[in-house]
Amino acid sequence: MGSVKDYFSSLGKGVASLVKGLEVTGKEFVTPKITERYPEDRDNMHIAQRFRATLELIYDAEGNHRCIACGTCERNCPNGTITIESKMVDTWDGKKKKKLDRYVYDLGSCTFCQLCVVTCPTNALQFSNDFEQAVFTRSKLVKKLNYLPEKPEPKPTPEQIAKMEAEKQAKIEAAKAAAAAKKAATQGDAAAGRPAAKDPAATDDKAAKALAAAGGDPEKEAKIKAALEKAAKLKAEREAAKAGGDAAK
Ligand code: SF4
Ligand code: SF4
Repeated sequence: MGSVKDYFSSLGKGVASLVKGLEVTGKEFVTPKITERYPEDRDNMHIAQRFRATLELIYDAEGNHRCIACGTCERNCPNGTITIESKMVDTWDGKKKKKLDRYVYDLGSCTFCQLCVVTCPTNALQFSNDFEQAVFTRSKLVKKLNYLPEKPEPKPTPEQIAKMEAEKQAKIEAAKAAAAAKKAATQGDAAAGRPAAKDPAATDDKAAKALAAAGGDPEKEAKIKAALEKAAKLKAEREAAKAGGDAAK
């Protein structure tokens, strides 16, 4: 009697286990699939946006990137994966500007830590999620990221040209005025029979040049004037102290 009872008990457990298994199988059967068929369904693959496949420079619609060749990413990369080659170019206003020449990235030694991306001051970098990066030779993993031809330096706008001309003219006028003042002071001393001062127009000359260099910027001019006044005051104090010392002797 006992064996019959055990038999039906075991049978019941087996059927319950079978139902449980079928339940799991049935549930998975109707659950949407998350696996991808590769390479058959290459065009419909879903790759997570956060997946880091390879480093790239961000280009805008006009083909410009934001890299200023500062070298921060190169210095912060723990593996020496990045090499920045830069060059100096002339700008329209006669200044020199550092520009990116070659941005070399070795995918083979990148650990995808993203330090380069987060430390870039101009947000010029990002990781692409294009995972198909397999190649047959390691040398092909070394890439030049600035692959588009560099644009020439922008031409100055008419306003910039006008401003530059005005600044140049102001400097010329200031220099002329300083020279005239120096000449007048020298002639005045000669007429009065006084020995010519050591350099009577030197301060005016410097002040005029400094003010001209401010380019009409009121803020800069105010700073320059304040500095000149301070220097004149210090000079006067020094001379007074010296005169006092001489008198005491
Ligand atoms: S990518 Fe960014 S951090 Fe690297 S050189 Fe260019 S501007 Fe500097
Ligand atoms: S992700 Fe890390 S290892 Fe790769 S280039 Fe950037 S800083 Fe270097």
